[in-house]
Amino acid sequence: MAAFNVVDDVSLRAIVAAANRASSPVIIQASVKTAKSIGVGLLTAMFDAAVSDSRVPVALHLDHCPDRRVIEDVVAAGWSSVLFDASNRDLETAIRESREVAELAHAHGIGVESEIENIVGVEDGVGSDVIAHAYSAQQVVEAAQASGIDLIAPQLGTAHGVYHGRPKLLPERAREFRALSDKPIVLHGGTGLTTQEFQAFIEAGVSKINISTELKMTYMKSALASLRRCEQTQEWDPPTLFNEIGGAVETMAVGFFEIFGSAGRA
Ligand SMILES: [Zn+2]
Repeated sequence: MAAFNVVDDVSLRAIVAAANRASSPVIIQASVKTAKSIGVGLLTAMFDAAVSDSRVPVALHLDHCPDRRVIEDVVAAGWSSVLFDASNRDLETAIRESREVAELAHAHGIGVESEIENIVGVEDGVGSDVIAHAYSAQQVVEAAQASGIDLIAPQLGTAHGVYHGRPKLLPERAREFRALSDKPIVLHGGTGLTTQEFQAFIEAGVSKINISTELKMTYMKSALASLRRCEQTQEWDPPTLFNEIGGAVETMAVGFFEIFGSAGRA
């Protein structure tokens, strides 16, 4: 299942349109930075309006959130799921707080993705470029069982942002998790991987793949091309800009649904 980090209403509507065009289920997610800049109330209303006539299932997820107050806000707003990012806590604290978050979320019918090992790279101001906490797959699964969370986001060799050089990918570690637990495995840092690399992770048992950097790059590059055309023609029409960005993001998302094999599944 593809999960895209949207940044505004243009990208949000483009992902919903792409999912409907490809007949694919999709997860829309927002970083804490995006949730704070738009506001949880407005973002929730935008999502509800954008999916009101969707023919495919669309979920709303909060990405990497170490701040439990923001989690409480989106739980109250009725989002589908949250990633409680406890990778900056020691193991004992991470398990205890993850259990508290899971209890709160589950009481509202909301799922919890859990990260206790840090996936390297900084995403919208959250995270670190160095590995602060790394555990064995067995330790991560035991922590997941002890805290009662629903999805596991382990370190799989990927990183947030743009790769400089080829990463050392670990699909075999995803397979190790699959053998130890039936909790879905999430792959972060998907931007820049090849079709074959994505398929190796899917075959190894990864269920959710996050795409953030690729959306930002597609968004900004199409905006740049559109603005350059405005400069040439001296026609400055904002809706043309929005339509071009939305079209580029939609095409990008359809491509991922096809690579991930979710097209035609909704
Ligand atoms: Zn991530």
